[in-house]
Amino acid sequence: MILHIIAEPTMNDSGTAFLNHVLRQLDTAAEILNLDPAIHEVLKKPKRILMVSVPVKMDDNTVRVFMGYRVQHNNARGPYKGGIRYHPNVNMEEVIALAMLMTWKCAVVDLPYGGAKGGVACNPKEMSIHELERLTRRYTSMMFEVVGPLVDIPAPDVYTDSQTMAWIMDTYSQLKGYQVPECVTGKPLSLLGSHGRAEATSRGVAIATRELAKLLNKPLNGARVVIQGFGNVGSYAASILHEWGAKIIAVSDSRGGIVDEKGLNPQALMEHKKKTGTVVGFDGAKQITNEELLELPCDFLIPAALENQITPANADKINAAAIVEGANGPTTPEADKILTERKIIVVPDILANAGGVTVSYLEWVQNLKREQWSLEEVNAKLEQKIVTAFNDVVRYTKQYESNMRTGAMLLAVSRVAEAVKLLGIWP
Ligand code: GLU
Repeated sequence: MILHIIAEPTMNDSGTAFLNHVLRQLDTAAEILNLDPAIHEVLKKPKRILMVSVPVKMDDNTVRVFMGYRVQHNNARGPYKGGIRYHPNVNMEEVIALAMLMTWKCAVVDLPYGGAKGGVACNPKEMSIHELERLTRRYTSMMFEVVGPLVDIPAPDVYTDSQTMAWIMDTYSQLKGYQVPECVTGKPLSLLGSHGRAEATSRGVAIATRELAKLLNKPLNGARVVIQGFGNVGSYAASILHEWGAKIIAVSDSRGGIVDEKGLNPQALMEHKKKTGTVVGFDGAKQITNEELLELPCDFLIPAALENQITPANADKINAAAIVEGANGPTTPEADKILTERKIIVVPDILANAGGVTVSYLEWVQNLKREQWSLEEVNAKLEQKIVTAFNDVVRYTKQYESNMRTGAMLLAVSRVAEAVKLLGIWP
């Protein structure tokens, strides 16, 4: 095991709470499945935690040191897989929780992957592109010995994108001495990225919303949709659902929210955000707070920002018929309980936002085969994966008379547990 522990790990209360939430979801599934306590114990803990302090020469010639993490939770079903997030609040426990969610997510969509996550505690909004490049390259070099195409394959997450992935690919390849595109996914198209990857998470969210509408016998056409977060996931989800006939009545970002009962035009809104940096101030829309946004009456509420957004403080006031989790971990277990009692259906993160990692897998397969598939081919495979997973989760949910989160967890944990059991413990 390679450990570069130099500085203190960053921790915070919300990271601890988030990890506890994810562990509680596992406990619930373990209890219902009557899981072997030894396997439960194995699944509770990540297999490896890499913690590094990443020194970066800033543009003003000072040096700053950022804490970076890569957590590898489980690889019984295949190489570790998961994104890398750059955010000021990144902390070790949050990354552990997110790595664990990746294990379940890959199992729900039946990808031959385990789960991992990475993160660097930094504020990318205050850093120049050169500083971000140096940070990414140094962090990659410090992860070099524990990642790789058959070991652990990073991808984008909050505030990282295809450019970040290109730097990771180049750094890894430089250290190897030859080009290794399959060491990372979410790359730009011109660097062997996949068609459809940029909007894959959102397309998955849209497919999950459409399948839920079918299940509830509700038309998607004209359905009122509220989206929290207008980043990579939220903005494309808005535009795909708009294309499919839904009415996007409100969206928000970290600076605030907007509502327009007539329906917003996602394309125009994306341009507004590109110009001004925020959705706030969009023509004809009324400004609201993020709190107000979550409480708007609607058919589908899509939290697509960060974790811990729907809590006991607001779960009672949610006015949505259903929630589709674009973000990872937006609902706390206490809030989940309230929503279940109120019969508000929640399509859980590990199903609803699995489109991203699904197309990451398709990108990786294309890279390994040195092929490039058309957008139609990628989207058809994505559609098939998400619809199958959705139906599998509904089957578990009905069989165990649970909510969809528990149904998805039962499916995921039973798949991972079986692999762990069959592999055994060596020596
Ligand atoms: N960061 C995304 C997620 O949370 C994608 C991960 C990947 O493609 O490996 O699912």
